Amino acid sequence: MPCSAPAPSGASRSRARIGARYTGGTPVPYEDLDSHEHLDVLIVGAGLSGIGAACQVETKCPGQSYAVLEAREDSGGTWDLFRYPGIRSDSDMFTLGYAFRPWKEAKSIADGPSILKYVRDTARDYGVERKIRFRHSVVRAEWSSADARWTVEVDRGDGESVTLTCGFLFMCSGYYRYDEGHTPRFEGSERFGGRIVHPQHWPDDVDYASKRVVVIGSGATAVTLIPAMAESAAHVTMLQRSPSYVAALPAVDPIAKVIRRVLPTKAAYSVVRWKNVLFTMVFFQLCRRRPERMRAFLRKGVQRRLPPGYDIDTHFKPTYNPWDQRMCLVPDGDLFEALGSGKASVVTDRIETFTEKGLLLESGEELEADLVVTATGLNMRLLGGVELAVDGREVELAKTLSYKGLMLTGVPNMAFSIGYTNASWTLKCDLTCDYVCRLLNHMDERGYVSCVPECNDSSVAEEPIIDFSSGYVLRALDRLPKQGSKRPWRLHQNYPLDLRELRYGQIEDGALRFSAAVATVDGPDRVAA
Ligand SMILES: Cc1cc2nc3c(=O)[nH]c(=O)nc-3n(C[C@H](O)[C@H](O)[C@H](O)COP(=O)(O)OP(=O)(O)OC[C@H]3O[C@@H](n4cnc5c(N)ncnc54)[C@H](O)[C@@H]3O)c2cc1C
Repeated sequence: MPCSAPAPSGASRSRARIGARYTGGTPVPYEDLDSHEHLDVLIVGAGLSGIGAACQVETKCPGQSYAVLEAREDSGGTWDLFRYPGIRSDSDMFTLGYAFRPWKEAKSIADGPSILKYVRDTARDYGVERKIRFRHSVVRAEWSSADARWTVEVDRGDGESVTLTCGFLFMCSGYYRYDEGHTPRFEGSERFGGRIVHPQHWPDDVDYASKRVVVIGSGATAVTLIPAMAESAAHVTMLQRSPSYVAALPAVDPIAKVIRRVLPTKAAYSVVRWKNVLFTMVFFQLCRRRPERMRAFLRKGVQRRLPPGYDIDTHFKPTYNPWDQRMCLVPDGDLFEALGSGKASVVTDRIETFTEKGLLLESGEELEADLVVTATGLNMRLLGGVELAVDGREVELAKTLSYKGLMLTGVPNMAFSIGYTNASWTLKCDLTCDYVCRLLNHMDERGYVSCVPECNDSSVAEEPIIDFSSGYVLRALDRLPKQGSKRPWRLHQNYPLDLRELRYGQIEDGALRFSAAVATVDGPDRVAA
């Protein structure tokens, strides 16, 4: 049976800090533990979610010492890494922005540099910039139950490494590999006379003005690249194996414009955020419950924007149902405009081989190109590739069950921040951070030094963590944790439900097992019985 320990009577006012060593009642002075720097909370990653986490820890857990470890030289994560032409959000910034900091720009579908500026401005304004340690790549973290702390190994590059300890590990490391995108092997690519570029590593010197470009792919990156490159390229061809759903949205939300005119900034942000949450939810639910109707609706949208007689059945009629994969949104229909103008075109076919001049397709058609962009996706990787061990045993993610979509069974004092797949990433990350702050404060008040999700309910069936048929998900599914068939093991992918559970739900729900230090801190550096 799941159990939750009562608050220990001995853990009173003096803070039984998370990470205080518990050795069965023997007091151990902190300075004897080891010489490593100790922090209450270590946040891994300084992207959108890591910066958001730091802001929330800073404001809601004033007593906690924390640092943000970032592998790269700069903050911003995704929004700093991706620099391909036209890089932008594909969900609205009222929900991709933080709940606590209004998005003030006019465009709701925003370009990458504006999003990066928003993230960095937030870090500066909340005073968390100074807490980020760049070129700190976490490679391994080992939990010790005796010490109730994590020992974290960090690679600082050039063969230099450093070890830190922390009471709570908060993984905000995104969901994909930074060092390489997904690049399937294409037959004959070595003999191609032009250039091949992956959007994840866009070189500064790519000149595509007046060049023939082929973009391989049909996802969010491809539909972003095509209109942006079509502005100056001789021609851009989107070469897709199979079609995706593409829907046009206004770049500037007209309803938001009116609401912003009549309400003060914060109130307007909140109202528009909720409007968009509800719109996205209803749209998603309609797609799941009435797929045929939504197929027809989406098709009409495409038809309206493309020239009469355009072959929609070949290029814009996916074989799967709407929202079985992430949907591509194009601001103001810019993709359709590029296709309509003749500056871009779509080819739905399979690649037989690269040739000296371009690509030979299975249909026998040859596409000549000066530049080929392989928008073939991401390599999914959870928890930043960090090796986790608990009391000497390696954690196998695939054998764990996710608790509320933010902790893992058998892994104490560790949370991860992963956003929604069917709505803006930040909606869930905001709630995750909110919950982690509540959890930290709860443990602090009660004198708990550790908490670990435990599922002892045999009626909970294991299910794949993501109900999505996108390639990058399917390629990684056997390495990911599972979700359970019911609360609190089930991933809702639903903001109002998560809001209720994560912001207002009880922390002690029977599935989280807490342990208390019998030792308490007597003075800043001493543990006393
Ligand atoms: C091109 C692109 C467009 C997207 N557009 C949208 C959108 O419009 N809407 C939406 O909801 N989602 C979108 N997403 C998903 C997107 O990734 C999230 O919205 C969000 O930016 C992710 O933020 P994050 O901080 O969780 O992860 P990331 O942005 O990936 O940041 C993770 C950070 O952690 C660091 N890190 C990783 N591992 C380690 C380690 N071991 N040690 C130290 N540091 C580490 C990384 O260097 C990085 O800085 C998009 C994704 C991509 C790739």
